[in-house]
Amino acid sequence: MEDQPLDSSKVRSIVGRRSLYWDQKVKRRFKYEAELDQGFAERVAKLAYGEKLYSCIQCGTCSASCPVSHWMDFTPRRVIALIQAGYKEEVLECFTIWLCASCYACTVDCPKQIKITDVMYALRQEALEHAGYRKRFPIPVLAREFFKQVMKNGRNSESHLMLNLYMKTNPFKLLKMVKVGLGLLRTGRFSLKKEHIKQREQFQNLLKAVDRLEKEARIEEANDRTAKRIASETVGRLEKEAHQ
Ligand code: SF4
Ligand code: SF4
Repeated sequence: MEDQPLDSSKVRSIVGRRSLYWDQKVKRRFKYEAELDQGFAERVAKLAYGEKLYSCIQCGTCSASCPVSHWMDFTPRRVIALIQAGYKEEVLECFTIWLCASCYACTVDCPKQIKITDVMYALRQEALEHAGYRKRFPIPVLAREFFKQVMKNGRNSESHLMLNLYMKTNPFKLLKMVKVGLGLLRTGRFSLKKEHIKQREQFQNLLKAVDRLEKEARIEEANDRTAKRIASETVGRLEKEAHQ
């Protein structure tokens, strides 16, 4: 069969599609060592109760046990590997940490007793603190708005929470919910009133104190583990030297 010249409109549409594809998908897939955050694993380990991240053998049991891994952009095994290697932005911006359902299946099955669920919590905390999450993905926005409301008022007001969530993720979805919202308002199951407790300042001080104590306990535990690890490594090295 003879080659037919392509119709110019077809060429334009193919080139158009390709350039759109390239604009969106072409991204450098590796990083130079200098671009990696070498202290990231240590920080995550401290937040996740001094977890032994470096003992991961990449067996993949956690990914196999995870009931939602097929929805994740990185499986739990890959998340651990990325943390170890210092891929901070990739880990904090991934969907995996927000899709984790905290079911603890991975933690129970891990042969190295790595508390992967705690690692996921720590990563969410890091992502919220450093705003390193996808801005329009609803789960982190919901978590942040909920926390802000409870911190400020001591209680959560559902109507305000939903309003803030949709305004910060997809305002058009709010229009779809108007009918449902009005129905809930009519039946008294939803209120526009902003709820708050009486002694808000005392409550805020209490939460801040709990947060501070928790952070101190984590650092202490991590330091304790690090000290134990260094001591056992030193003993191992001395024993090896004695046998040489
Ligand atoms: S199950 Fe544990 S050791 Fe195996 S890949 Fe997952 S974190 Fe690593
Ligand atoms: S705790 Fe999270 S990462 Fe672990 S198995 Fe459950 S959903 Fe998956």
